[in-house]
Amino acid sequence: MAELGLFDAAAYQVLPAPAEKLSADRRRTQRQAAILAAGQHPLGLAIGRHLPLHPDAPPADDRQATGPRCGSCWYREVLGHHNQSYGKCTADDGSRISHGAGTDVRRWWPACRDYSPGDTRLSPDAARFIPEVAQA
Ligand code: SF4
Repeated sequence: MAELGLFDAAAYQVLPAPAEKLSADRRRTQRQAAILAAGQHPLGLAIGRHLPLHPDAPPADDRQATGPRCGSCWYREVLGHHNQSYGKCTADDGSRISHGAGTDVRRWWPACRDYSPGDTRLSPDAARFIPEVAQA
């Protein structure tokens, strides 16, 4: 004979808390972390194509490791817009730039295959130094 309970215990079960609703920024950060863990550069998400990491790029889960990163790349520039500044990738003739946060490039990101450490020509800052003016 089956036992009969005094009440329906299911009604008193503690239900799991509803999943936290993440902001669009947090969801994008999670997608970028996932694609980095999969060995691709996160900017590929925003530009809609596969963007491989540089062969010497540091591990995605170690921000202290040495190696090429977007923050030391010639193509990363900080652009101003409405009193804010945004790190963007100027490679591919600027086609990697949009007004959205999806194309913001973090300095710590491991570099993509298009990484460039710089240019041997004078930088814009160096070109501003004019000895004759400085000695006057
Ligand atoms: S070109 Fe440079 S700044 Fe642009 S995504 Fe690649 S490493 Fe980063």
